[in-house]
Amino acid sequence: MTMARARAPEIPQAGEQCLLAGMRCLGQGSRMLSDYHTHTPLCHHAEGAPLEYAQAAKAAGLAEIGLSDHNPMPEAFDDWRMAREDLPRYLQWVEEARQAMGDFPVRLGLECDYLSGHLPWLEQTAQMAPWDYLIGSVHYIDDGVAVDDPKHLSRWRNASDLAWMWERYWQLYAEMIQSRLFDIHAHPDLAKRFGLRPAGDLRRFYEASIEALAATGAALEVSTAGLRKDVREIYPAREMLEMAFAAGVPIVINSDAHRPQDVGADYAQALALVRSVGYRSTLRFEGRRRREVPLPETWPTAATSTP
Ligand code: ZN
Ligand code: FE
Ligand code: FE
Ligand code: ZN
Repeated sequence: MTMARARAPEIPQAGEQCLLAGMRCLGQGSRMLSDYHTHTPLCHHAEGAPLEYAQAAKAAGLAEIGLSDHNPMPEAFDDWRMAREDLPRYLQWVEEARQAMGDFPVRLGLECDYLSGHLPWLEQTAQMAPWDYLIGSVHYIDDGVAVDDPKHLSRWRNASDLAWMWERYWQLYAEMIQSRLFDIHAHPDLAKRFGLRPAGDLRRFYEASIEALAATGAALEVSTAGLRKDVREIYPAREMLEMAFAAGVPIVINSDAHRPQDVGADYAQALALVRSVGYRSTLRFEGRRRREVPLPETWPTAATSTP
């Protein structure tokens, strides 16, 4: 085939010929992004029904939306997750969004807190619904100590407490990956949320997680949520992303939206970052099975958020 046209279309539409050499055209949406990390009011700190997230995703030019509210626990645990008895309502909301959105894919996910000692519960949770994917997160590094909780901020200003927090966080993050419970691993360096980091080269903290990802084949999240936090940076740091790319670790770009207007927030910046590191593909999930799709070359800058 000779290249008759100067430029391949950014987003091939259904039935359109894919002109990129060596790239199989997967049909409509194959060169678009998705957003798999979003929350609903069931977790008591987010707004917007699944249908509103889906509509926002479609309007932002995304190929798919996924809901991933904070996982229920067997008994009362904290005040920022769905109650166990609300799970049926969550499933129903997502189903209603699916019905209303026609052929626009609405995926069912869950953001699960990795807590050592809760592994049987997480295994049970994995059987509770026909999940399209499960996201694993480390927020808690000790009883009642979540790294993203401003309540403990003054403590992290102390260098030795901060060093302990980072060590503990990354130890749990690597353990979470090794558990093989999750498809996507969320906001990798959440420990930097408040902009506080130990001194020196931070790659020593990332190594074990990169090794675990390479060994298990699971995906790392590139989250624009950090741009809306004090640190004003994407999770993870560029250095970690470079290590991930070198180790062949797949990535998924997500917003971690807690309101529909943040769906796809700052995707242009995230896409530019991952492409500059070398990434040319991302993953889509359905029924906990994944397929690789090409990344778009650019993304419109319209969908940016304000903190
Ligand atoms: Zn949340
Ligand atoms: Fe989280
Ligand atoms: Fe989240
Ligand atoms: Zn999150």
